Parts: sequence; C-alpha cells; structure tokens
Amino acid sequence: QCPWGAPKTASISCSLADVMSEQLAKELQLEEENAAFPEAVAVAEGPFITGENIDTSSDLMLAQMLQMEFDREYDAQLRREEKKFNGDSKVSISFENYRKVHPFDSDSSEDEVDWQDTRHDPYRADKPTTTPKKGFIGKGKDITTKHDEVVCGRKNTARMENFAPEFQVGDGIGMDLKLSNQVFNALKQHAYSEERRSARLHEKKEHSTAEKAVDPKTRLLLYKMVNAGMLETITGCISTGKESVVFHAYGGKSATEDDKVIPPECAIKVFKTTLNEFKNRDKYIKDDYRFKDRFSKLNPRKIIRMWAEKEMHNLTRMQNAGIPCPQVVILKKHILVMSFIGQDQVPAPKLKDVKLNSEDMKKAYYQILNMMQRLYKECKLVHADLSEYNMLWHDGKVWLIDVSQSVEPTHPHGLEFLFRDCRNVSQFFQKGGVAEALNERELFNAVSGLNITADNEVDFQAEIEALEKMNEDHVQNHGKKVSTFSSDGDPPIYNE
Ligand code: ADP
Ligand code: MN
Repeated sequence: QCPWGAPKTASISCSLADVMSEQLAKELQLEEENAAFPEAVAVAEGPFITGENIDTSSDLMLAQMLQMEFDREYDAQLRREEKKFNGDSKVSISFENYRKVHPFDSDSSEDEVDWQDTRHDPYRADKPTTTPKKGFIGKGKDITTKHDEVVCGRKNTARMENFAPEFQVGDGIGMDLKLSNQVFNALKQHAYSEERRSARLHEKKEHSTAEKAVDPKTRLLLYKMVNAGMLETITGCISTGKESVVFHAYGGKSATEDDKVIPPECAIKVFKTTLNEFKNRDKYIKDDYRFKDRFSKLNPRKIIRMWAEKEMHNLTRMQNAGIPCPQVVILKKHILVMSFIGQDQVPAPKLKDVKLNSEDMKKAYYQILNMMQRLYKECKLVHADLSEYNMLWHDGKVWLIDVSQSVEPTHPHGLEFLFRDCRNVSQFFQKGGVAEALNERELFNAVSGLNITADNEVDFQAEIEALEKMNEDHVQNHGKKVSTFSSDGDPPIYNE
C-alpha cells in the first residue's frame, strides 16, 4: 500500500453546464428564500386560532399587528393636530386624507370602543321624517324653503357621500362645501359610470382573494376573543358565503362583559369587509326610513358593521319571542358570535339537505307557519331571505338563521319580501309532499293577517305593491302622527 494512500477520485456531482445554469441558480435561491421566509400558516389545517398558536405562528401577522398599532398612534396624533389647527373656527379643514390607515378598513376614534353596547336596539322604527308639505319651514324672516340656495348646496354636498364607496369625493364634506345642482348632477353622472367601471375591475380581483378566509384585522379581533378567555379554540370554517364566513368555536370559561354565559359551542359569523357584495343589498336598506339618517352619514365599512348589528338585534327579538334561533353571545365590529346549532363541530343540516319523513315534514311545516306569524306579529319582522337554505333541522325542530337582511313589515318593500318568503316556503313543502301546505297567497294572508283576495300571482303582487304605496303615502302625509309602529297592536298600518 502506498503510504500516502490513493487519491480519492472526487465524485463530480454536477457538470460545468449545471454550474453555469441560470435555472439551477434560481431554484437554489428560491429554496433559500423559502427557508428564510416561510409562508403564512395555512388556515385549513389544525385549529384555526387557539390561545397559543397565534402570536408566534407568523412573522407577517406580527408585523401587521405592529404596523396597525403604529398607524393608529400616528392617526391619533394627526387628529390632535387637526383639532388644534381648526380651533373653533367656523370653517374647518379635515386632515383625513393624510391618515395612515385607509379610511375604509381602519378604525376611527369612535370605533375604538372595544366591546359594543348590545342592550339598545337602534333599529326600532323611529318616527319617520318628512319633507314639509308646504315646501318651507320657519316663520317670518327666518323662513327657509327647500329651494334655499345655501341649504340646497349643503344638501348636495352631503348627498355626495351616497356615491359609490370607491368614488373619492375628497373632504369637501368636512369643509361645509356647497355645490350647485348643476355641479352635483354632473358629479352624480360621473360617479355612476365610475361605479360600473370599477365593478367590472373588481370582479376579477374578488375571485382570486375569495379563498383566503379572513383579513389580518379580523384575525386579530378573533385572537383577542380567544385571549380574553371568551372562546377556547376556533376550530375552523363551517361556511364561506358571498357576504360572510362562518367559523365554529368552543366557548371559553370567562363570561362576556355583560355576564352572559358562553355556550359550549359557538358559531362566529364574520361579515366580509370587502365591499362590493354588500352593494347588492342596498335595496333592503336604502328605502328604509329607519336608516335614512344613519345610512347617509356612514362610510361603507360602518355599513357592513351595521349588517352585523342588525342581525344581532333581529336575533334578540326572535329570541324574546321564543322562536328557535341562535342566541347572541357578543357582537364585535363586523363579527357576530352566537350559539352553535349542531353538535361536536358538526353544524345542523339545512332543511334542503335533510331527508325528513312525511310526519316530520308536516311537523316542520306547521312549525314554520307558526314561526312566520310570530316573526311578523311579535318581532315585527319579515325574514326577507327565508328558504330551505336558511332553516336548520336540529333537535327535531326547525331553527331560523341568517336574519341580517330582515326588515320591518312597514319597509317600503317589506310585503314584497314577505311574499317571496311565502313562495319559497310553499313551494318547498308542496314539493315535499305536505298536502296541508297553503299556497303562497294563502300563506301570505295567514302570516300578515291581511286579506288580499286576488286569485292569481300577478294581481296579488299588484295589490301588495298598492298597499306598500298606500303605506308610504300615509307615512309621508301623517309624518309624526304615525304611532302604530312603535306601540303595541298590529305592526303595519295597512289594516286601518
Ligand atoms: P350567509 O349570509 O353566508 O348565508 P348564514 O348566516 O346563512 O350566512 O350562514 C351560513 C351557513 O353557516 C349556514 O347555512 C349554516 O350552515 C352555518 N351557520 C350559520 N350560523 C350557524 C349557527 N349558529 N350554528 C350552526 N351553523 C350555522
Ligand atoms: Mn344563509
């Protein structure tokens, strides 16, 4: 044996061509980058949020949390400066545009209230407001007509806020700007065409982000609930809809601030903060005088929160009337926590998915008939999206869910919504073989207590619309004198 040993033949692991290959270089770099910056934890695997996993799970999340805090501080400082700058001058300049946090997905100062007050129901019918019939208000030289230039100008400026959310109107509103009718109409025209254009652009974008369950802000809010001991674990997603995402969670040990005991299993409904879907819902709220004042002043983010708030109050009304429905646990911004209908993480099936025997089917029908009547008479609500998709079968009975869009019967389109509900229910049970099921017109009369005699769909619909119109006129003419809403007795004033 040679004392120096034989030189080992170095195994050539790659050729010169490989070394020079750009392809390989790229792959190596990617590998390195992936090791240094791992992707955010996937939502689907394992529990979604628990007490432990959140704060260390993702650097990105941490960075976003910090950035959010920073932005909030920055904006608070900005607000202080704005206040100082304006003093008590009559014309004020808004610093809104300099804010760090984009106004549509940020928290403004009033939003920083951590837990919402859930006791008061602001959706009860107010006295409706009307434009004075005479066309003027006031006396003597203080008289103001609706054509008053200054008033009109201000109104126009305020109405600008009703344009599409994406349409930047600047901060003229804060500056007490006055717009002439001509300028306003030109702007309105422009806003409409912008809205259509941006809807087209949005369609594509929406699609690609639909998979991601919730945004960082929502994650943070959910985390806070877990951290506060209110929820034990958020196990995962039950449903992803156009307007909301629903999660399952195990309730925590500590009670809510108003001492409500947390149910062992909860459903968390997160209303989507992407705005375009909600514009479809305008018709539910736009003509509703209950919202006239609130709606015109709100930004889109708050409108979404209002849907959550509305669902909460409607559920509470139903609960009080003894209608089987989820029990509200807590509302936080656009997140509604309620009791879970189902067991061991398995949600109760929708009526459309469950196969009932004929006896249960009949039982379900009579129960729904009774619930619809109570919903109308006692809760003064029309579900407005009632179908086999929004009724769950659990514990041998039907549970009503999804009531964020429900309206009062006196809503300008309330009776039409009711008729649609009746049609869905009738058709479902007639197809399901319940011989006793009323047809949609009979059901409508049975629920509303009205007596519309038309024997065909078209005439029936026409009578409904006539009634709605009559009611609107009544509201307009009698203004403050309408008291039939708020006091006891039948909800609408149709039967006077
Ligand atoms: P959407 O507006 O997306 O239809 P829903 O309130 O109808 O919202 O909820 C979507 C789905 O989530 C329901 O069809 C139901 O399967 C499930 N779900 C919602 N709330 C609950 C609950 N409290 N318990 C169990 N499942 C629920
Ligand atoms: Mn639904």
